[in-house]
Amino acid sequence: MALIVQKYGGTSVANVDRIKNVAARVKAHWQQGNKMVVVVSARSGVTNELIARAKALHSTPEEREMDMLLAIGEQETIALLSMALHAIGVPACSRTGAQAGIHTDTLHTRARIARVTGGDIPARLDEGKVVIVAGFQGISAQHEITTLGRGGSDLTAIAVAAAIRADLCQIYTDVDGVYTADPRIVVNARKLPVIAYDEMLELASSCSKVMQARSVEFAQKYNVPFEVRSSFNDKPGTLVKANAKTMEDAVVSGVALDRSQMRVTVSDIPDDAAAVAAIFNALGEAGLSVDMIIKNLGTQGRSNLTLSVSSDQFSYAEKVINTVIGKLGSGAVRATGEFAKLSIVGVGMISHPGVAGTLFNALASIGVNCDLITTSEIKIAVAVAPAKADEAVRAVHEAFRLHDIVPIG
Ligand code: ADP
Ligand code: ASP
Ligand code: MG
Repeated sequence: MALIVQKYGGTSVANVDRIKNVAARVKAHWQQGNKMVVVVSARSGVTNELIARAKALHSTPEEREMDMLLAIGEQETIALLSMALHAIGVPACSRTGAQAGIHTDTLHTRARIARVTGGDIPARLDEGKVVIVAGFQGISAQHEITTLGRGGSDLTAIAVAAAIRADLCQIYTDVDGVYTADPRIVVNARKLPVIAYDEMLELASSCSKVMQARSVEFAQKYNVPFEVRSSFNDKPGTLVKANAKTMEDAVVSGVALDRSQMRVTVSDIPDDAAAVAAIFNALGEAGLSVDMIIKNLGTQGRSNLTLSVSSDQFSYAEKVINTVIGKLGSGAVRATGEFAKLSIVGVGMISHPGVAGTLFNALASIGVNCDLITTSEIKIAVAVAPAKADEAVRAVHEAFRLHDIVPIG
């Protein structure tokens, strides 16, 4: 008998038949005598639909109201799944994020988890019930509903697994594991049987949408190993854990693509470190992460910054930067074009020279030029034109021969 946390994403609960499929899977585990906690997302498309409705009414909706709206999606699914389980004779009860004790800070739409109590989950499990928890949502100290950022149900699952000390945490999605690239873009991408937190975190923060980056960060911090599996078949998935050796001698383990980055230019600010610090401090306090940064010297003691934020956060970033510009007394901020960010990730990069050369050769071979570039010990990311993005991922995947590496695990 084990204590299992399972998370089912949007496509896995997209309609009544798929919810029935999830209920049957949960029942099978429960019948084996396991204690089951099931975290669910909104049905696929629902969160986007809610965002579109909000934007139709206001270009920058108040973030508190956004959370009030977005939390609906997951609440629909917990009730429906609970009903589907009742219909097949499984005692189940649904819990909102607040009821499950997911306490967060007050940063609406991208709140961070402060603590997780689990609420009455252990007591209900002891009664033999399956507990269904709404992903993506929490509650602030002001008793306001908050949400955990896009893809945040992954974070709910990992955080609940850590809080109740689950024996197993399984993330069920529409692919049967983590691949060397998005299998929708690269048809011969390989599934990785196992991957280390570090690499998974870099892949996820480079927008390998398969896991939300913050959930991987949380899993690493609290050492919660988890499996990524498919809810549509029983194939073995990918195990994500500490110190995993992904592939013998592989320099790069994966290629990731983030299609929706916005290039932001902040021009004519005072050319001193304090001005730059003021801008990045304000963005940080607003919970907005900035990835690529270039600073150019302008004229007459002024400088310009180019930075990237995710496109859906541009209007908030613009607001925050404008406030700083007001205090600095000079400057202007504007969006200067969307781009896609292509990243290569691999712990093998630490010990292998020449990785950047292979990357740029591959891009040059298909006529892709890039200006913004950022690197870490185990990642290189470049800005590419959106129209060339898929082709670039395929070329880079091919150049590092990721289709014929031999995974070990
Ligand atoms: P869920 O709704 O279950 O949370 P997501 O749509 O958020 O699922 O994530 C699953 C998707 O992630 C897959 O359909 C796949 O297209 C995409 N994806 C991107 N990069 C990868 C990768 N390296 N390996 C597997 N899937 C990936
Ligand atoms: N429903 C939320 C989203 O679409 C959270 C999630 O699916 O994980 O981002
Ligand atoms: Mg997801």
